[in-house]
Amino acid sequence: MFTVINPATEQGIAEVASTSLAETDAAIARSALAFESWRKVAPGERADLLRAFSSVVREHAEELAQLEVANSGHTIGNARWEAGNVANVLNYYAGSPERLFGRQIPVAGGVDITFHEPIGVVGIIVPWNFPMPIAGWGFAPALAAGCTVVLKPAELTPLTAIRLGELALEAGIPEGVFTVLPGKGSVVGQRLVEHPLVRKIVFTGSTDVGMQIMAGCAAQVKRVTLELGGKSANIIFSDSDLDKAAATAPYGVFDNAGQDCCARSRILVQRSVMDDFMQRLETAVQGVVVGDPAHESTEMGPLISRGQLDTVRSFVPDETSVAFRGTCPDGAGFWYPPTVLVTTENDRAYREEIFGPVVVVVPFDDETDAIRMANDSDYGLSGSIWTRDVGRAFRVARGVEAGNLSVNSHSSVRYWTPFGGFKKSGLGRELGPDAPEAFTETKNVFMATDE
Ligand code: NAD
Repeated sequence: MFTVINPATEQGIAEVASTSLAETDAAIARSALAFESWRKVAPGERADLLRAFSSVVREHAEELAQLEVANSGHTIGNARWEAGNVANVLNYYAGSPERLFGRQIPVAGGVDITFHEPIGVVGIIVPWNFPMPIAGWGFAPALAAGCTVVLKPAELTPLTAIRLGELALEAGIPEGVFTVLPGKGSVVGQRLVEHPLVRKIVFTGSTDVGMQIMAGCAAQVKRVTLELGGKSANIIFSDSDLDKAAATAPYGVFDNAGQDCCARSRILVQRSVMDDFMQRLETAVQGVVVGDPAHESTEMGPLISRGQLDTVRSFVPDETSVAFRGTCPDGAGFWYPPTVLVTTENDRAYREEIFGPVVVVVPFDDETDAIRMANDSDYGLSGSIWTRDVGRAFRVARGVEAGNLSVNSHSSVRYWTPFGGFKKSGLGRELGPDAPEAFTETKNVFMATDE
């Protein structure tokens, strides 16, 4: 048993049983059995079941959102978007069972066809920062491809995942096809990696654990997709709309209290506009509304846990580097104010993922310098480029080593488009039109037509 805590109040809100090793093995065995029938469900019927699952999630979106506010401290606005995203992603991939085309390839002496065969049982391991969407990006295309899924939510945030498991059954998804196992990473997560009947792991979380998972999967040449950490750059050129760049910069990093793998946590500003930008940024940061995540107008809630609060504090050991700060509530809850540091490229806060509402601002001289600095990181997940020069926007976008870039905006995740990282930010891509194929093996069949 572990107690689920509301991070805005520090009150316990639920007791959740931790799945044991024996229960994990039993669930994997049931999932493997369910795979034999799920893979044979006719494409149109599988599509209907996913659409029904999407509809049931949509009907319960407000309930799921409220649960996420209580369990994760997400603002109600974000939590509604997250529940809606699960419904949308299920609906989007409901279109794919009927479109999972193979190819007919011209060859001599016969007919050659490829098939996308479902891989089997997929283990999906998710972190605590976006419990609903990250789970959905894995399970929706996996189920669409004909795989069965065992989902392990993070220890701190199991409630919405457990509810999604119940809603799947309510929607008619057969028993064993989608199983949610709350529990420890070292028990349930590790067993998913080690168990030979689990044929693929989709892991989202820290780079350190991701590397262990990749090594664990190597022992069985198990398929693996990794979505890991980030230290993304928000690059602001002197020819940009400086008002808009400064007004939006806090939301590009402080959304979800900075606990976002795509957080633009390094702001790189062309030196000639550094002072003008900082003045505008200060106004914007002080305008961020931090408080009770259940209030409609709140823009930023608490951190997830005391441990995360301690981690974030360790990046700001003294006040010397703080340029300015926003505000946050006192008293119970894991609160930390939006904080801006002016620092150097050697600072730990510049190099390491903080996963909290702390951003560093560093000047650059020219385009070459900006690209060099953006790429001077082990990570490569996302980033933003602010300029009015279209040619420069494309040059810099092509130059930055990251999987998801936005020009004059901070958008990273749209379920229609592929998402994932370069370098230590991950391996493989989620979302977009091709995601179901990542849950299949391509089989080639040649049929001789010679007499
Ligand atoms: P974490 O790596 O500690 O845990 C992630 C999940 O892995 C949890 O469910 C945990 O129980 C499980 N786990 C832990 N040890 C395991 C093991 N040995 N074997 C199997 N499973 C194990 O990460 P976290 O602290 O929950 O999340 C924060 C991290 O996630 C950040 O680094 C962040 O950047 C990253 N993240 C990345 C993305 C992305 O899409 N790239 C999205 C969200 C979060």
